[in-house]
Amino acid sequence: MKKINTDVLIVGAGPVGLFTVFELGQLGMKCCVVDSLQEIGGQCTALYPDKPIYDIPAFSSITANQLIKNIKKQIDPFDPVILTNQKVETLEKYDGIFEVTTSNKNLIRSKCIIIAAGNGAFGPNKPPLQNIESYENKTVFYHIKDKSIFKKKKVAIAGGGDSAVDWAIELSDECEKIYFIHRRTKLRAAPSNVEMLYDLEKKRKIEMIIPYQLDLINGSNGIIENIVVKDLENNQKKLNVDFFLPFFGLSTNLGPIKDWEIELEKNIVKVDQETCETTLKGIFAIGDVCTYPGKLKLILTGFSEAAIASHNCFKRINPEKVLHFEYSTTKGINKI
Ligand SMILES: Cc1cc2nc3c(=O)[nH]c(=O)nc-3n(C[C@H](O)[C@H](O)[C@H](O)COP(=O)(O)OP(=O)(O)OC[C@H]3O[C@@H](n4cnc5c(N)ncnc54)[C@H](O)[C@@H]3O)c2cc1C
Repeated sequence: MKKINTDVLIVGAGPVGLFTVFELGQLGMKCCVVDSLQEIGGQCTALYPDKPIYDIPAFSSITANQLIKNIKKQIDPFDPVILTNQKVETLEKYDGIFEVTTSNKNLIRSKCIIIAAGNGAFGPNKPPLQNIESYENKTVFYHIKDKSIFKKKKVAIAGGGDSAVDWAIELSDECEKIYFIHRRTKLRAAPSNVEMLYDLEKKRKIEMIIPYQLDLINGSNGIIENIVVKDLENNQKKLNVDFFLPFFGLSTNLGPIKDWEIELEKNIVKVDQETCETTLKGIFAIGDVCTYPGKLKLILTGFSEAAIASHNCFKRINPEKVLHFEYSTTKGINKI
């Protein structure tokens, strides 16, 4: 377990949570950012990395990926602690300090919290296979960090969208065998890639298991022996594989934050628009996760809320200090 002491914990590394690091840093506050995803960037990275965004001020067009890269560069001077691949879970308060645990058993102690959790923690949609958890991150992966582990191995890939098709193509050179499983005959991926997939089938690099549904996963101690699939007439087929890669997209869940006893309105956190503070003093909410009369769910609105919440964190953390409002042009970058 890692123990981290910081001024402000930011929940969520979407565009809004990330930009908050800049605003806090300019006011001299340290922060720790936590995200359930492997990569920073929230919806921008997870849902539409290559799409151009047209309403970010001063960029007539910028891809979502590039926007996140730019924000990352802008916040690097403040050296934030960024913890990915873990959800925030429990919240306690001792002597005026919040203590939050994460799913990786890290403990973050902070004076304020800014929730920038969007629609909730992103996580993979999992196939309904009994016991699949016992294979996860050993022989079952929902995202790929190191493709070299699949070299000369037998791999089953399931799903009908871009991720499943792209990875089947990408790994076809490395693996001994790829089974591509989908419950329908039609795939939803980019047509040119679907064509490439069927070409690879003709070259016997990929075996299409279509239309088949997943039925069972067999093995022990996290090691898969085989995956059992069945067709529409319930005829079973056993696939002997070393790895299983299900790509069924991402879903979101506000999860444990709902138990933090903060007032919600239709699953979104209610805040005072003047401060972005929630009904729990010292906890703020900004970006898509917050609501107030007239709220617009836009990145630029979230950036403004980041500045408002940061100024109010400063006042809470430094009640004895007077906050002199200064432009960045006057102040420069306030490296901590
Ligand atoms: C296809 C599409 C196109 C869009 N186009 C535009 C556009 O042109 N212009 C525009 O302004 N907006 C656009 N949006 C909306 C924009 O992406 C959102 O407004 C923006 O991403 C909100 O940013 P955020 O940082 O508040 O939340 P998010 O981007 O949703 O990030 C929240 C992060 O918090 C993490 N998180 C949540 N709960 C937890 C937890 N308990 N523990 C750890 N991490 C957690 C999530 O995993 C996520 O990474 C678009 C959205 C989509 C889907």
